[in-house]
Amino acid sequence: MSDCLFCKIIKKEIPAEVVYSNNVVTAFKDINPQAPTHILIIPNKHVADIHELSSENDCGEIMAAITKGIKEITDCEGIDESGFRVVTNKGTEAGQTVFHLHFHILGGREFRWPPG
Ligand code: 5GP
Ligand code: ZN
Repeated sequence: MSDCLFCKIIKKEIPAEVVYSNNVVTAFKDINPQAPTHILIIPNKHVADIHELSSENDCGEIMAAITKGIKEITDCEGIDESGFRVVTNKGTEAGQTVFHLHFHILGGREFRWPPG
């Protein structure tokens, strides 16, 4: 989608600190980190949110690539043993501000449950 911020990052029209990528997903550092490690992993293809993803034919391929990416990134960042949090927001009330599906990978500090 031409006016989507994250599509622009995929197309390298906007710079980002990419930490992981393949032909299905890309992961990069969040510009406004909420934890010592704060990485976003997104499908290369434009999908608005996790609800929309379910209607895509390649939903399974995307989720498998995201799951594998989360493992490789958290191993590489050294946060697998201490623990990390994965969050996706769907809709404005949940806090979604960029309407291209992304999973926040957060680590390096303690998190409370339930979240505020
Ligand atoms: P949301 O609120 O939609 O769940 O998360 C969007 C995230 O994207 C936020 O954490 C925000 O800091 C991050 N973000 C917004 N604009 C940019 C940008 O231009 N570059 C990067 N790397 N992250 C961004
Ligand atoms: Zn997009």
